[in-house]
Amino acid sequence: MLAIVPGSEEDGCGCRTLGLGAMQQMTRLCVYCGSAAGLDTSYRAAARELGRSLAVAGIELIFGGGRIGLMGEVADAVLMAGGRVTGIIPDRLRSREQAHPRATELLITGSMHDRKRLMAERADAFAILPGGIGTLDETFEILTWRQLGLHDKPIFLVDVAGYWKPLRDLFDHLATHGFTAPLVPRLLQIVPDVAELMKMLGHVRSTGAPRSELL
Ligand code: AMP
Repeated sequence: MLAIVPGSEEDGCGCRTLGLGAMQQMTRLCVYCGSAAGLDTSYRAAARELGRSLAVAGIELIFGGGRIGLMGEVADAVLMAGGRVTGIIPDRLRSREQAHPRATELLITGSMHDRKRLMAERADAFAILPGGIGTLDETFEILTWRQLGLHDKPIFLVDVAGYWKPLRDLFDHLATHGFTAPLVPRLLQIVPDVAELMKMLGHVRSTGAPRSELL
């Protein structure tokens, strides 16, 4: 199913705090990852393993909607295993990131801001696989939104083959120099691989908050 989401570059800032509703098993995971596949084959393997695992667990994938790089690998693996995929992609990136033709649902947004807001609203939790600056942008945004109390959804950094060691060091550096309290586990949890991520997701409960009113 394809849907156009109305919106502009300016909206998406009506900041609201998440309310707590009835707790239930999480059903949707937002995955941030590279639009490239990276050089180490373990990144691609982890993306495929995550896709398969989500389908088996009955957890829907929320992602950036592209068919390229690790994004495409995760989505293809979910679909191959019979799972459900929602892609959210800005109109102007549809050809550059090759909007996934077989996504269960594909939402077309007017802006990058709308994409990121919708991805955040629709998810019960977030997982970060290896990626580049787009992945970093999404990671920092979802972390800062949590720091500001705009949401309280779990965030997992999946440290595949130690890819995120420099970022973990940066987080420690920020705390050591007094610019933040330690980020782990206050805002973020670090897991070494997809198997550990799936174990952690088994403990995540959805708040049941209205997904359309997060930000
Ligand atoms: P990358 O990690 O650079 O391969 O990008 C992964 C995804 O992040 C792509 O789908 C990008 O469209 C998306 N992305 C989100 N925010 C940004 C940003 N500020 N700059 C570039 N890409 C971004």
